[in-house]
Amino acid sequence: MDKYNRRKFLLQARNLTYAGATSWLCGCGNAFSKSDNLSAKPSPDDSEDNEQIIVIGAGIAGITAANKLQAQGYRVIILEGRDRLGGRIWTDNSLGFPLDLGAAWIHTIDGNPISPLVKKFGIQTVVSDLESQWNYKGVDQFLSKSEERMISKAFQAFTDRVAELKNNAGSSQQITLGDIAQQIIESEELTGITLKGFRATLSSTIESEVGEDIANLGIKGFEEDSEFTGADVVFPRGYIQLVQALSKDLDIRTKHLVQQIAYDDTGVKVTTDREVFSGSQVIVTVPLGVLKRGSIKFSPALPEEKLAAIERLGMGALNRLVLKFPQQFWPSQPHTMAYINGNIPDRYVEFYNWQKYVQQPILAAMFSGDFSRSLSQMPKSEAIQNIMSDLRSMFGKDIPLPTATLLTQWHNDPFAYGSYSTFSLNGSLQDCDRLAEPIGDRVFFAGEATYGKHIGTVHGALLSGEREANRITQQS
Ligand SMILES: Cc1cc2nc3c(=O)[nH]c(=O)nc-3n(C[C@H](O)[C@H](O)[C@H](O)COP(=O)(O)OP(=O)(O)OC[C@H]3O[C@@H](n4cnc5c(N)ncnc54)[C@H](O)[C@@H]3O)c2cc1C
Repeated sequence: MDKYNRRKFLLQARNLTYAGATSWLCGCGNAFSKSDNLSAKPSPDDSEDNEQIIVIGAGIAGITAANKLQAQGYRVIILEGRDRLGGRIWTDNSLGFPLDLGAAWIHTIDGNPISPLVKKFGIQTVVSDLESQWNYKGVDQFLSKSEERMISKAFQAFTDRVAELKNNAGSSQQITLGDIAQQIIESEELTGITLKGFRATLSSTIESEVGEDIANLGIKGFEEDSEFTGADVVFPRGYIQLVQALSKDLDIRTKHLVQQIAYDDTGVKVTTDREVFSGSQVIVTVPLGVLKRGSIKFSPALPEEKLAAIERLGMGALNRLVLKFPQQFWPSQPHTMAYINGNIPDRYVEFYNWQKYVQQPILAAMFSGDFSRSLSQMPKSEAIQNIMSDLRSMFGKDIPLPTATLLTQWHNDPFAYGSYSTFSLNGSLQDCDRLAEPIGDRVFFAGEATYGKHIGTVHGALLSGEREANRITQQS
């Protein structure tokens, strides 16, 4: 399914299926899990420490690469800066039940490499129908049929125009998706609620998926990714279950912040804030945001081509505010809801009806781009009021206040500096390939940003980990 057209447009899908789920308290795997694999055979010679392969980052890419190498007899150690595993898979338990604050969905399960793993480990999932969205223009007010038709027509014109420009690459190098949206607004003469509805549709189908404003996105990123099909599903007991299952036999050192990677013909040396590790090869899986910040010093420095690719690719800011209420006051049917008559495009918030998945009165608000970044400049109480104002516009002034909240700031997280990678104006699939390019036979790169075809996803990260493990085994 195409990443950007995951949802059908606006009110087309108010007929939806309900899939319930039970909640379950899940322990987070943040412990240093010393493996019983220390006797595993390194290759080619197990007598020296510097023959081990060092993986940086215990996200899904690092864990996958380590598992695959270890299964082939290599000795592998993972160095992780956080005090927990999973990276951008992060299941929080502070409200007394598991809630995913990073990745939450397997997008399109048929053919997706996450699906067989979930099946193998017997992890429960439930369908999340992202096409089932109710859009409000006031308290219990929805768009008229003619307004829906106008917005739908404009959105079709937008996608046609993008396709046309993509086929004519020479003319489209510097145009942003925001520029194209503006052209359509003018040609379709959108005003008032149809203008807002059109902008809301772009926010819902593009910005909320990519984590970035269309003003900052080029058309190269507007890719059809139709490899997988089927439903989207979530994990009522948390995505972390997959990480826990995959990492149980691995030697993972948490709270090891990598500061420097030195490499030469003889091997690699990785300096953390605790100790120095020697190895034969290193696989770097830290997020693009961390590479952009230059938080890790490479010696010798990274090649110019790779640095340019890091610069050109973008890092989005998708954030989440989890709101727990004393009781449910919203309709049970929709999976998501949004107020589309507000200050769009400056702010757009989608409310996920998490009650469906955890059977608790929970809404998960999601917002992206500059609005999401600006919320973190406010005191938390102000940010919550800001998001609550949309709920009051949809359900009236008398709705209850939340009894508990969780607000993410992925863009300020020093282990991520953003939610996931995007094709900003100048970024392209080739930049992902440049990022993935190894340096000699010493330094390898995995992680979602290195897998352009499935950029910004758990399955893309997993496939990148497999790719680099294969590269190492094939060269040995
Ligand atoms: C809010 C949000 C929602 C998302 N929703 C979905 C979704 O529904 N479905 C989906 O498929 N994808 C989703 N994603 C994307 C998905 O989470 C990522 O693409 C994927 O988890 C990335 O895996 P990774 O291994 O490449 O990186 P990471 O998981 O980030 O792993 C990299 C690891 O490196 C560590 N690290 C960083 N710097 C250092 C250092 N200096 N020293 C040591 N360790 C370091 C980090 O702590 C981290 O553990 C979402 C992401 C976010 C943030």
